[in-house]
Amino acid sequence: MRRRVELYDTTLRDGAQAPGLSYSVEDRMRILHKLDQLGLPYIEGGWPGANPRDTEFFRLATKETLDHAELVAFGMTRRAGENAEDSAILRDLLDAGTETVTFVGKSWDVHVEKALRTDLDEGVAMVRDTVRHLRAQGRHVFFDAEHFFDGFLGNADFAIRVLEAAAEEGAERLVLCDTNGGTLPSEVARIVGEVHARVDGVPLGIHTHNDAGCAVASALAGVEAGVLQVQGVVNGYGERTGNADIVPIAANLVLKMDADCLPPGAVERLTEVAHYVAEVANVAPDSRQPYAGRFAFTHKAGLHASGVARFSEAYEHVSPDAVGNRRGVVASDLGGAATLKMKAAEFDFAIEVEAVPVVLEQLKEREARGYTFELADASLELLMRRASGWTQPFFVIDSYRVHVEERVGDGDAPLAEATVKVRTKGSRHIESAEGHGPVGALDDALRKALTNDYPELRHIELEDYRVRVLAETHGTGAVVRVLIDSSNGERSWTTVGVSENIIEASWEALTDAYLFGLLHPREVAEP
Ligand SMILES: [Zn+2]
Repeated sequence: MRRRVELYDTTLRDGAQAPGLSYSVEDRMRILHKLDQLGLPYIEGGWPGANPRDTEFFRLATKETLDHAELVAFGMTRRAGENAEDSAILRDLLDAGTETVTFVGKSWDVHVEKALRTDLDEGVAMVRDTVRHLRAQGRHVFFDAEHFFDGFLGNADFAIRVLEAAAEEGAERLVLCDTNGGTLPSEVARIVGEVHARVDGVPLGIHTHNDAGCAVASALAGVEAGVLQVQGVVNGYGERTGNADIVPIAANLVLKMDADCLPPGAVERLTEVAHYVAEVANVAPDSRQPYAGRFAFTHKAGLHASGVARFSEAYEHVSPDAVGNRRGVVASDLGGAATLKMKAAEFDFAIEVEAVPVVLEQLKEREARGYTFELADASLELLMRRASGWTQPFFVIDSYRVHVEERVGDGDAPLAEATVKVRTKGSRHIESAEGHGPVGALDDALRKALTNDYPELRHIELEDYRVRVLAETHGTGAVVRVLIDSSNGERSWTTVGVSENIIEASWEALTDAYLFGLLHPREVAEP
């Protein structure tokens, strides 16, 4: 029989602790619905009372209809020496109005004595009273035992006493937290096993952090040792090195451990969901993320890649389709027609036989001038299409111009001003934009000029811009190579430009980035 595992998402609470992340209430609502559609059973929405945004989110989110998920509010125990009935923290938690609440309490004796400055009996009572009070208000209660693994190693009897107190009062999950993230998977498995033997009757959960690079492994070790609930964050965002990434956790559970944790068809949407959350978080998607990363199924060209084309099982641990990702080939050595045809197949582009030598010739010539197509797959696809006689139907650039002015001594940064003249679908657009840098100003002006006719461009973000000055080895002066990474929230692509002039190189990479985005619009509309 398939074993049931309960996924508990904390993207909106623990995951929001990541440095540089800040979700608006609207962002949270979008993520909530996306994760609900994925079929996650529990979504922790935040800590009501801890900040006004979390409180406001619960006020609105509890009115939303969810298909699969239950929204959970998070809080902590009553304070030392306080009555649970008088606790403002617990009042805020209850006021959020969710049927299930999770609260965190200390299970490491050192923290009770040093951080709370109270005795161990009071430490246990704080957990006990908190569960009792929340249960008396009719809530389902999950208990996060903070620093559990460190606490268990330091004073196992106390750590167990805390769990027992929560269980006796009616907590329905005892979640063992590796709060410092330093516990190794084998140790997690051993301790979960011991807790199982000592605390009976209440399902366990696991919550891990990635400080030792083991968060996903430890969560899975917890499952193998018998926990029911696994807590994680989409893309592993979180404080320091992050939380356990629920994307590979879910993929491993379904594809490798035959666990029942998501509705049928959901695992195929993991790549899309990972990219969506990155987009809302305004973070460039991690191209090396297991399962969902852009390079997760990308093979280096050569023997290996041609092997993949024939017999993918020999080179891929799962099929990219299984998680909604795609296979790729890194085109480091495009010398051969076979590699080129493989790239064309990856682009879903039927390259004509006569075009192959033309493309090879152009590639050779461009690489000699400093282009690289190893990462710039979007530029490669455009090159193949152009060499096959394709002309893009979207826009014609008449001219572009940028100038940078510094009024010396005025105390302001130099100002760049760009003007772009473009024809689209028969009409001519002249747009200007200002910015602190010339490339940013050009990007804004071009985007303005095109968005009238192509509103889908608003989904495209330029994620990264890299410049390299290449040595004077090509019979010209030093040339500049620009690589631009772009994303439309579903997929990412890279374009390249080369010139002795950095503006011209940037412009080439920029226009190709938009062109590629128009050629491959998003498949999934906004939720
Ligand atoms: Zn945590």
